[in-house]
Amino acid sequence: CGQCVSVCPTGALYARNDLEKLYEALSNGKVVIGMIAPAVRVALAEEFGIEKDPFIAERLVSFLKFSGFFKVFDVAFGADLVAFEEAHELLERLSNDERLPLFTSCCPAWVKYVEQFYPTLTNNLSSVKSPQQALGSVVKRIYARKLNLDPERICLVSFMPCTAKKFEAEREEHVGIVDLVLTTKELSQFIKASRIDLRKLEPQPFDRPYGVSSQGGLDFGKSGGVLSSVITVLNDEIGIEDERIFELEKGIRQIEAKTKDGRTIRGLMVFGLANARKVVNDILEAKMNVDVVEVMACNFGCVGGGGQPYPNDTQARQSRSKQLKELVAVKSLISPTENYHMRKLYEEVPNLHELIHTTYRPRKRIVQEDVEVLPASNGEKV
Ligand code: SF4
Repeated sequence: CGQCVSVCPTGALYARNDLEKLYEALSNGKVVIGMIAPAVRVALAEEFGIEKDPFIAERLVSFLKFSGFFKVFDVAFGADLVAFEEAHELLERLSNDERLPLFTSCCPAWVKYVEQFYPTLTNNLSSVKSPQQALGSVVKRIYARKLNLDPERICLVSFMPCTAKKFEAEREEHVGIVDLVLTTKELSQFIKASRIDLRKLEPQPFDRPYGVSSQGGLDFGKSGGVLSSVITVLNDEIGIEDERIFELEKGIRQIEAKTKDGRTIRGLMVFGLANARKVVNDILEAKMNVDVVEVMACNFGCVGGGGQPYPNDTQARQSRSKQLKELVAVKSLISPTENYHMRKLYEEVPNLHELIHTTYRPRKRIVQEDVEVLPASNGEKV
């Protein structure tokens, strides 16, 4: 997750390269479908020296199609879906006054950190799957049926800025959804090995129906993007009169949104697990009163993920955040609620809610050779 290996809570920071598995899938008759995360495009643009290219994602689509991909979708579509669901989940928890604050669950490093270090708070995690797993579930369970494709024939490949996403796809509750997770570094190797000049490829749009996304969905690639997108949905649903963001300290920002019905929703946008620990401890000691907390394990969010190319320092992360902000600004759809294909999916799939929600549970923490056993929220040993 971009943090030092010795403190990484995911155990996912090992140099596993899965590129060979992609070559295998492309050559053995699999129907290979790709999906590209928001933060991947900006880091790849930087890697190939084309930072100012507004069509970088569409050139990537071209490259993947040329390489044998059947369809290429945008993970930002999955992010729209997640923001929409999470906004409704927050409203429900606020009206029932339960499981607050709501913790976002898009970042698998943060989810695993809560499961291992704060097992009594696993119920506070949003039950909405991450954009990778939500979109993956829709592709494997809905899209495959629509196209009369056996899901076993599909190899669903997700391009991520993140090493922890490999771990996420292998969690027992997600097995069989995303078949292969390749980092930005692995995608870069794939492009370089092909000897195709990315800059010279004609841009092609993402495939429909899961290739359309809003500013909110694309913004998931940097810290603060999830919560801003949730607030945008809340604005559409209940009306937000005023919204203020304060920087409390580096990596911790507070957002206050006043709703038209007179409520104030307080949220925090946090990056870095040390900051997250501080915030959670303050919440547990009642020093802080918030309704929703977005946590991203990597500094500046996914733009600084452990699967991004080097240098992956503060300067590179800030520059990627700026580039992503520029790409976000020119998107014509502002809110996830404006995403026509997402709305249509809700109309067509009555059990969509079931498909894109999951559950979490306390996890064992491995301390050197010994396994420390933590008590679950119900007091049982797990
Ligand atoms: Fe992965 Fe993003 Fe979390 Fe980093 S912040 S671990 S890149 S999901």
